[in-house]
Amino acid sequence: MTISSVNKAGIPEEEMSSKLGLPSLDMSLAFPQATPASQFPPPASDYYQLDDLLNPEEIEIRRKVRALMEKEIAPIMTKYWEKAEFPFTAIPKLASIGVAGGTIKGYGCPGLSLLGSAIATAEVARVDASCSTFILVHSSLAMLTIAMCGSEEQKQRYLPSLAQLRTVACWALTEPDNGSDASSLKTTATQVNGGWVLNGQKRWIGNSTFADILIVFARNTATNQINGFIVKKGAPGLNVTKIENKIGLRIVQNGDILMNKVFVPEEDKLPGVTCFQDTSKVLAVSRVMVAWQPIGISMGVYDICLRYLKERKQFGAPLAAFQLNQEKLVRMLGNIQGMLLVGWRLCKLYESGKMTPGQASLGKVYPQTSSPLFATTKIFPLVLRAGLDFADGQGNGSPSARAHGRERNPRRFLSRQGLLRSGADLLLRRHLRHQQPGHRPGDHGDRQLQARRSRLSKPALMNSRGRLYISS
Ligand SMILES: Cc1cc2nc3c(=O)[nH]c(=O)nc-3n(C[C@H](O)[C@H](O)[C@H](O)COP(=O)(O)OP(=O)(O)OC[C@H]3O[C@@H](n4cnc5c(N)ncnc54)[C@H](O)[C@@H]3O)c2cc1C
Repeated sequence: MTISSVNKAGIPEEEMSSKLGLPSLDMSLAFPQATPASQFPPPASDYYQLDDLLNPEEIEIRRKVRALMEKEIAPIMTKYWEKAEFPFTAIPKLASIGVAGGTIKGYGCPGLSLLGSAIATAEVARVDASCSTFILVHSSLAMLTIAMCGSEEQKQRYLPSLAQLRTVACWALTEPDNGSDASSLKTTATQVNGGWVLNGQKRWIGNSTFADILIVFARNTATNQINGFIVKKGAPGLNVTKIENKIGLRIVQNGDILMNKVFVPEEDKLPGVTCFQDTSKVLAVSRVMVAWQPIGISMGVYDICLRYLKERKQFGAPLAAFQLNQEKLVRMLGNIQGMLLVGWRLCKLYESGKMTPGQASLGKVYPQTSSPLFATTKIFPLVLRAGLDFADGQGNGSPSARAHGRERNPRRFLSRQGLLRSGADLLLRRHLRHQQPGHRPGDHGDRQLQARRSRLSKPALMNSRGRLYISS
């Protein structure tokens, strides 16, 4: 079957979900006034003009990545998300912008500044979170480990083709029994004649189902320290199975890895990984990139929500005209500015050699301080939640819903039904207060309760503009 074939309903086959035989969710199908989801909206979230903080090279990389993601990647991602498949056709497109390898200098890598690499991560994530995870694992974990901990010979052998995405890498640290507690990993590496034998399991490893090389961390049975190895796809004893039925990051191919006496030649042992602290050096950089991922996703969610609220009209006006929605947009926009500034500062601290692990972690997680503006991944849900408030029937399956990884309509804040339900909630709350010990009839609220009860007992009518009102 060719990509352009159409079914009985006249819908191109590529837009059909493989599992259900239904078209991919796109609100423009049922709501023609909306711009199709494949056309990504222009950026509107850089309210404080972050561009002024970038050098010309960083501005150029932002422009290049943004153009590719909006024009070439956005149109194809929905169907892959529906099928939870990886878009291999996107790999040459991503290769063309030259971001794989990020900050690595030489060996055909782009040698970007940390901020330039972070901006590229955010621009990819703005359009597709899964796509940015693919690049993060390949570039900021696997390639960086080779660059920081590999021998000169290993760098020359592996980095050039990884930089051009002719080969893809994954990074295997997590195990079924050791996630957050990664330094307790149990996979073993035993030295034998001419190399090492690996035994153990890894779990959740992104890109692993198709990666050409796997960076694997294992415990040296002689020293009890963590060492790193480059394992090649198809090595005897290596078995990778895709983890199915994920809700979030559906395009990312996470794998369960089983290693049963996998032989790794001495030349593929990473000389720079002699203990767990060596992986921490790589994680310090990747943490900065991970902090920029939710920044990018939040920017995209904001852009999509803004366009939707301008296009969708209810009660005779665009939804953006209602202050209830404007307030949510303002909160999203404000949070994004805070996230951008924290991300920018993290890069500057790292580049000046001053960034501490704590500062990197603070950028990623909520610091339990009074101001939530200092965290990116914890602020991110606030932006998403506000975005989800707009994800009504039309927005279901939108990037904000996709970014949150939910498939069903989350809430219908603005529907007529929703407004009536909140009226009913109010009545219930007041009724419960009425039941409380010590409550005297005639206390504050009772008169409003009476008035409301009598209004709601009358029939609801539509006015000429389709608005619901209660006859009084
Ligand atoms: C989409 C995706 C891609 C991934 N890609 C990779 C990859 O490429 N390579 C790789 O090596 N790994 C990868 N991982 C694994 C990831 O790094 C782990 O999921 C993460 O380290 C957490 O480990 P865990 O899932 O085993 O959860 P656990 O560590 O078991 O945690 C379970 C819960 O307990 C909580 N918890 C843990 N420790 C504490 C504590 N001390 N106090 C209080 N609560 C605690 C956690 O917050 C969490 O809610 C990926 C995961 C996902 C979901």
